[in-house]
Amino acid sequence: MCCWRTGPCSCFTGVPWARPDHLGAVGWALPFDVSVVHFTAVSEHVLKNSEALYDRARRVIPGGLYGHQARGLLTRGSHPVFLESASGCRLKDVDGNEYIDFLCAYGPMVVGYGNESVEHAAALQREACDTMNVPAPAMVELAEKLVGMTPGADWALFAKNGSDVTTWSLAVARAATGRDNVAMVAGTYHGVHGWCNQLEKGFPGSERSAVVNFVWNDLDSLDRCLAVEGGLAAVMVTPFRHEAFSDSLLPADGFLEGVRERCSKHGAVMIIDDVRAGFRLHLGGSSQLWGVTPDLLLYSKALANGYPLSAMLGVDSLRSAAREVFYTGTFGTQAVPLAAALATLDCLEALDGPSVMREQGESLCSGLREQAQAAGFGVTISGPAAIPFMTFIDDSEFDLSRRFAGLCADGGVFIHPLHNWFLSTAHSAEDIEQALSITADAFSSLAQDREG
Ligand code: PMP
Repeated sequence: MCCWRTGPCSCFTGVPWARPDHLGAVGWALPFDVSVVHFTAVSEHVLKNSEALYDRARRVIPGGLYGHQARGLLTRGSHPVFLESASGCRLKDVDGNEYIDFLCAYGPMVVGYGNESVEHAAALQREACDTMNVPAPAMVELAEKLVGMTPGADWALFAKNGSDVTTWSLAVARAATGRDNVAMVAGTYHGVHGWCNQLEKGFPGSERSAVVNFVWNDLDSLDRCLAVEGGLAAVMVTPFRHEAFSDSLLPADGFLEGVRERCSKHGAVMIIDDVRAGFRLHLGGSSQLWGVTPDLLLYSKALANGYPLSAMLGVDSLRSAAREVFYTGTFGTQAVPLAAALATLDCLEALDGPSVMREQGESLCSGLREQAQAAGFGVTISGPAAIPFMTFIDDSEFDLSRRFAGLCADGGVFIHPLHNWFLSTAHSAEDIEQALSITADAFSSLAQDREG
């Protein structure tokens, strides 16, 4: 049963729910058509303007909304479809409802919406120039900054999205090694390009023909990949597993080190895709938490606090391959995101951002754990405290998660039922306390529903 108050419905359009671990090489498939999800409203929380905009959107945008913003992934009737403004860690939707936000725009907002120093730096740069024929000095300054703060990195290149740099890094690895095959952990999200898109529709299988898969935390399975004919150009991993629809998984003792050793031994390029976790766990790259330095390190989300930017950082031995691979983009010289990134990194350094986020994340997680226990719900809270996720035990279709996230939205806390959450340095102890009083009410309502 999906809809809490109305009985069975078409939420999942008859397709069995599949978690990533149940799937093979390609990854997971969305178990429902997001445009036809009907999740019953759970409160009086008014979303009239959101709904009206969504009706308009459906006429001119296929599906109304697309990607992870698709409304079927949130709790319909409780989560707003459109937001109007944001400040610090707070959001306001188009109906005037306010939320304490734990999604941070799916990661980018690492020092808070409208952060003063970031916006000041961006405004100054915008006044001077943004997109031009050749770059502004900010490109060199940011490359120098990133190289200076990142163990092992000797150079940096910039693009716009995470997918740009995951794909570009494979090209660099292939150019450097003269090999075609690359290995990734089965089911890991590395973006939307054909070689790694989690849905097969629209992409010929041939795009994946040089991609081999291994299993997270299983070095034997990586050894089998390394034995593939022609060898591997690259092994790409995230610092920890943080796939949607799944509890997050940290690397087992020795796993990332084992990947590092094997890459060095076999001449494969080790790539850490730090697009999602970057700058929340460690300012020198998340894998430094486990003492591992990759050959290529990829950033995007949190790099420029909401301005469009991604980066690939690399070791000296890959410098000439990086120069030889042709890569460009219409907005490649955009200077405002570069200036925003410089200010974001300065803020994170000045505040020791990862410690702040860990501390606030730990308060949130321990509060949730206690509340769940008091209300009699088994939950799993996984991932590092700065990027936490909570699922309910024995909730394979995420009914409880969706209902809980809906109740939180009704009360004024924005969490995602299926995707990990993010802390920012804008979350204060008071914000966490206030959020926990809302989640406590959500657990009580959930318990009442269970009894009723
Ligand atoms: N890699 C990882 C680990 C990600 O989390 C994401 C985005 N969720 C990407 C790559 C792709 O980034 P983008 O959506 O900016 O293309």
